[in-house]
Amino acid sequence: MLTHIRKVLSLVPGSGRRKTRTYRRRDIPREHHNVSRAVISEPAKKVLARLNNAGFEAYLVGGGVRDILLEDRPKDFDIATSATPEEVHDLFRNSRLIGRRFRIVHVLFGREVIEVTTFRGNGADADAEPDHLRKSNEHGLLLRDNVYGSLEEDALRRDFTVNALYYCIRDFTVIDFADGIEDLHNRQLRLIGDPETRYREDPVRMLRAIRFAAKLDFDIEPLTEAPIRTLAPLLSLIPPARLFEEVLKLLSAGHGEATYDLLIEYDLLAPLFPATAKALAAGEPDELIRQALRNTDDRVAQGKSVTPYFLFAALLWPALQIEWRRLQDRGEPVQPALHQAIGQVIGRQVKATAIPKRVSVPMKEVWELQMRLPRRQGKRALASLDHPRFRAAYDFLLIRESAGELEPGLGKWWTDFQRVDDRARERMLSELSGSEPRRRRRRRSPSKGASR
Ligand code: ATP
Ligand code: MG
Repeated sequence: MLTHIRKVLSLVPGSGRRKTRTYRRRDIPREHHNVSRAVISEPAKKVLARLNNAGFEAYLVGGGVRDILLEDRPKDFDIATSATPEEVHDLFRNSRLIGRRFRIVHVLFGREVIEVTTFRGNGADADAEPDHLRKSNEHGLLLRDNVYGSLEEDALRRDFTVNALYYCIRDFTVIDFADGIEDLHNRQLRLIGDPETRYREDPVRMLRAIRFAAKLDFDIEPLTEAPIRTLAPLLSLIPPARLFEEVLKLLSAGHGEATYDLLIEYDLLAPLFPATAKALAAGEPDELIRQALRNTDDRVAQGKSVTPYFLFAALLWPALQIEWRRLQDRGEPVQPALHQAIGQVIGRQVKATAIPKRVSVPMKEVWELQMRLPRRQGKRALASLDHPRFRAAYDFLLIRESAGELEPGLGKWWTDFQRVDDRARERMLSELSGSEPRRRRRRRSPSKGASR
């Protein structure tokens, strides 16, 4: 894999120094912007005030400022400060120091988490920094970034210009170091500095570009866009656990289908879901994925929660189909083939994105129930109905039907079966007799099968 990446990188033009824009600080006074204290959460204001009162610089930054300027509701509030993580931690009893690669502090107020980061240095003399503070590998990947610096340096180490806007609660100005306001007005995502270098430092920035483009309906500025397809394989350098978190952010933020289209457009699906990308390339349809993402987007729009295992079950479904069929073609009976296919698909996927047990276990159950739902005779239907994952499996079945993967009918049967009383259920089950083929006992091998 590494040699592959090296090869890919050697194809990238201009690996040397490239001209980057020079930026000048601009302070936008209160009367020229719409960031009002009223839309900032109480906890965020508390953290800003306490840091200021303790003599530190502190600003609202990132999505909070960006989204307010766009007249959206921020998802959360991030704060940048001159205080070190330890100093922040000392000021707030309700805080936790987290991260190693990038040390930050979480200040907790009930369910709201305020993320506080110390100003990062600009890296001009990064080579002179000791390894325990800042360290990159031979690909330019930043393994650690804990060199602290000034407000201006902090701004230029952020990813996109629209994410590098600061709001000062003392004089209500918005501070713009990288022409972020201009890009905001033009609805453009522009990386600060040389895009290739910035992606190599942290390939997750490619996913962030896609995520913000879908969420904000922004364009990716041409120079920021240009290296993505070539550098996409660099995502394999990112720890699978971090990629799992990023995938969730990408797909469950309410713009899943638009994000999915962009992932495909920029060749970023393959590093995240290698087996799915392969299955699609082999002609497997992705209508079920789209349908699941559309449903998820609708749920988010209605303020409902999103189930990660459901998303992963859908995203990996084409890969599972291919593997399941392959095993059956090799003579494996349908049920054991499914079990083996599930094991193999998950086993391979966790090398790209980790999948924690709380996600993989219910995901497997949803898949396994797809085989059980058509089999309803006797006590089977009631047993399936009692299964803790029934509801998700039923939703999955409906999506398969609307994606055209199954003849319609079974979904409606289950819809009715849930609604009606016991007597009607009995009737539904007896009507099945004769219409539902009895389950054939399939043997794995003559010796094993005979003993059962
Ligand atoms: P949202 O929270 O709405 O998803 P955000 O822009 O606030 O969007 P966060 O992940 O909360 O995103 O990060 C907060 C800020 O930290 C960003 O706006 C950006 O300035 C900076 N940042 C986050 N991740 C990176 C990164 N990988 N490289 C450079 N800067 C980053
Ligand atoms: Mg944020």
